[in-house]
Amino acid sequence: MSFFKNKDDTPVKWKEKYFDLLDGQEKLEKEYKTSQDLLCKTIIRFALAVKGLSKTLDPHLDRIRDLLKAGLKSQQLRTELEVFSNALMAMEDNSSSQLDATLLFDYLHAHFADRVTELQKIKQRYEAHEFINPQRLFIALAEILGDDDRLKTDDFANELALADTKAIGHHLIILLENADLPLEFIEEGKTLKRRLQTGQSLGPVFEDAVNLLLTIKKHLLLEQQEMADFLSTLTEELAELGLITAGVNIATEDAEKNRSRLDQDVSAQITDLQRKSAGATQLEPLKQLVSIRLHGINQQLQSYALQEQAEREKTQKELRNMLQKIRDMETETTELQSMLEAAQSRAARDPLTNLPNRLAFEERLTDEIARSHRYGTALALAVWDIDFFKNINDTYGHKSGDKALMAIAKLLSKHCREADFVARFGGEEFVMLLPETPPQSALKMADKLRENIEKSSFHANGERISITLSCGITQYIQGDDNESIFIRADNALYQAKQNGRNQCIAV
Ligand code: GH3
Ligand code: MG
Ligand code: MG
Repeated sequence: MSFFKNKDDTPVKWKEKYFDLLDGQEKLEKEYKTSQDLLCKTIIRFALAVKGLSKTLDPHLDRIRDLLKAGLKSQQLRTELEVFSNALMAMEDNSSSQLDATLLFDYLHAHFADRVTELQKIKQRYEAHEFINPQRLFIALAEILGDDDRLKTDDFANELALADTKAIGHHLIILLENADLPLEFIEEGKTLKRRLQTGQSLGPVFEDAVNLLLTIKKHLLLEQQEMADFLSTLTEELAELGLITAGVNIATEDAEKNRSRLDQDVSAQITDLQRKSAGATQLEPLKQLVSIRLHGINQQLQSYALQEQAEREKTQKELRNMLQKIRDMETETTELQSMLEAAQSRAARDPLTNLPNRLAFEERLTDEIARSHRYGTALALAVWDIDFFKNINDTYGHKSGDKALMAIAKLLSKHCREADFVARFGGEEFVMLLPETPPQSALKMADKLRENIEKSSFHANGERISITLSCGITQYIQGDDNESIFIRADNALYQAKQNGRNQCIAV
């Protein structure tokens, strides 16, 4: 049986079949070349677009681009892909952002139709978010496509114009519509969109789109730096503001401590903020940092204000209490003062006759002697003693004796001048100081008074009784003191008694 036979066992024109196969193979190869070319161009564009996103990956991407530009050397590319994959694996990726890989899958489905099943599985895994980052997705794709023999050609002739421009153009339009372009670039974005919609050649449009993206990236980096600088300045100003606010209305010792604590807290927050904002390269984290720190400072200022308010109220309350205490004490002092004055007055007066007592007399005598000594003025001292007063007590009783004492005291006071001073020296003895009065005038006045008392009527137990007094008078002599002047007057009184009583004697 011949090898070249049909099912129905008819002879085959093997030559014809061979040429058909050769044509088919040639056609397939041409298609593969086109696909490979497109794939390489796409990878070059992707590598260009993501340049700058990762310092670790940039050198690998540069090498892959250079390799692809120089032609597809499969062994070198395989090695570089491995290095690239390792670099991806080594990268610690905290990003949770998902890559929109729709365009990639569309492309791979269209050009690797024989790998549809594997590609579909990876797409499902991708949609189920099994890949924690884009790198993992690329690694998985590289694993199923990396050994494809179709990549082992050295020839790249066709340009991007052969690609499925319609699908790519459509996706690019969607991308441009959804892109949140900065104001300055909106017009350029619109122009690109128009070019895509009018079906212009994809190559130059794609090139311009990539250039636009790179310009936008540069612009954003610049803007971000400006924003970071601005925020740093803002933070410094806020710090100053915080400290100024903290410095207001601080008076008490406690408030001083609170202020110091607040200063430390705020400066710690600001230092941290300044350090982190100086090193920040991304705007969003910096904004969050500023927001958190400002919130912290604001809370501290509020808590400080509340604390200070409480302290102030406490101090005011204490002050009010103290003022009330001072007022109470003032009232008390005034009362005590009056009581003291009353007590002093009581202490200086004789309670029976209400005349100044012996103590008051001694003080007054000292003053009058000093005055006479200083001005050389006259001063007379008269000492009075009731005659036989014991008999009155004995005859009419002590109470009657007291009444007699009160009556005599009144008479002595009544007949004195304003400037004179009368006191009860003790018992039934009285003293009289007559400033600026010569001895003769004093004797005359005393005698007149003695006669008046003698003539006065006193009553005891309904009986009329007569009371007489004896009086000794002396005058101030240079060098006298309280004792010497009194002794002289008392001696004169003694003489009066000796001479028969009811008389005045001046010495
Ligand atoms: P003479 O003329 O020598 O002074 O005789 P006299 O009786 O007055 O003197 P004496 O010293 O012997 O007596 C004084 C009396 O005065 C004795 C005392 O009981 C009385 N006496 C002193 N103080 C008071 C007093 O406050 N009230 C009364 N009722 N009598 C008093
Ligand atoms: Mg006496
Ligand atoms: Mg007497």
